[in-house]
Amino acid sequence: MNTATTDADAAFREQTRAWLEANCPTEMRRPIQSEDDICWGGRNFKFKSDAQQAWMQRMAERGWTVPEWPRAVGGGGLTKAEAKVLREEMRALGCRSPLDSFGIWMLGPALLKFGSEAQKLEHLPRIARGEIRWCQGYSEPGAGSDLASLQTRAELRDDHFVVNGQKIWTSYADQADWIFCLVRTDFGAKKHTGISFLLFDMASPGVTTRPILLISGKSPFCETFFDDVRVPRANLVGEINGGWTIAKYLLTHEREMIGGMLEQRSAAQSLGRFAAAAAGTDGVGRLRDGGLRAAIARFEIDELAFGALLERTADRARRGEGDPAFSSALKYYGAELNKRRHELTVSAAGADGLEWEGERSRDGTVARTWLRSKGNSIEGGTSEVQLNIVAKRILGLPGA
Ligand SMILES: Cc1cc2nc3c(=O)[nH]c(=O)nc-3n(C[C@H](O)[C@H](O)[C@H](O)COP(=O)(O)OP(=O)(O)OC[C@H]3O[C@@H](n4cnc5c(N)ncnc54)[C@H](O)[C@@H]3O)c2cc1C
Repeated sequence: MNTATTDADAAFREQTRAWLEANCPTEMRRPIQSEDDICWGGRNFKFKSDAQQAWMQRMAERGWTVPEWPRAVGGGGLTKAEAKVLREEMRALGCRSPLDSFGIWMLGPALLKFGSEAQKLEHLPRIARGEIRWCQGYSEPGAGSDLASLQTRAELRDDHFVVNGQKIWTSYADQADWIFCLVRTDFGAKKHTGISFLLFDMASPGVTTRPILLISGKSPFCETFFDDVRVPRANLVGEINGGWTIAKYLLTHEREMIGGMLEQRSAAQSLGRFAAAAAGTDGVGRLRDGGLRAAIARFEIDELAFGALLERTADRARRGEGDPAFSSALKYYGAELNKRRHELTVSAAGADGLEWEGERSRDGTVARTWLRSKGNSIEGGTSEVQLNIVAKRILGLPGA
């Protein structure tokens, strides 16, 4: 092992720890309780507290909302190894993510690979600083798993496109500032080859959204309608009719992020501690209910194993040995783990876990988050579709 590198790593770790200790407000070191605690950024985002705002701004100033992006576009310019140290130190101190966004998880990586220099400079710094919140316009009423069947039409007229059509399940479309959107630009071509990737402002004339109310009582997503929306030609990413490649690349990031994030959010909140507080302990401090104790132990072992798998996958990617299809395996298993966590949380909470309203249950957080977790095996591509990809691309099963 190279000693110089080791010394540099150790020094970076020490500086990082000291900076986090000095700059992460105490409130931002407590586990998030629900999606309402997440900092999404954007023009209309209301920070929950001064601490949340200060934390996001301090991290953004260092480029650490997107530690691995180049400095020129608002990132921290960290190597993968340094970014791993930062993640580890944040986890050790219990620091919350300063900023979560579809811009960071999905659009950013796609723009870094396929965007023009002008597009990178226009959009990436605003994502890194949490100024613009993005939503994802992929699914349509007739195009979910079979995404390439999408029918939203964009006609090129001189220097702009005119977009007409409908998207569905557009998460947070009513709160987003901009959308990255798949549109059909060639109706004669085979379905995968007539698609383009457009960016536009949700405040453009002709864009409307209608929230969809879910069983959890919340409306995290919308139907999104486009009626003669004018989009400058400069907002096309990549080539016209070349959007499918970008769409697929973005999906692998989305799937990896969903898998990884579900694990990180779960790891931030100890299920064992929650269960002990909710269901009680015996004379030696163990969970009183032996069945629940065993189920939680099994879950926590699987969660640790999944964490190790994520690390190994990141190491393989660093060495250039990653397989994009593996994001499907991570997405599938991350979703299953998160659903299990919420089943166990409801079991531990007993009758209290079913309370829907009231201060004591913080308006039914346990029940609502449990219901929300059911969507994990649908969002970002369903579990069945992920298993098909694993069967075909990774296992090479005949007939898959
Ligand atoms: C919480 C949540 C957030 C979402 N956010 C967004 C968003 O921000 N933007 C966006 O564009 N979309 C979003 N979606 C939509 C999501 O991507 C789609 O719901 C998903 O791709 C499935 O499409 P569908 O709903 O049309 O189901 P369908 O494709 O109609 O599938 C119906 C059923 O058939 C199964 N099926 C379909 N094809 C196959 C096959 N080949 N083999 C085996 N089984 C199959 C599916 O697994 C599923 O069980 C979100 C969904 C959820 C739940």
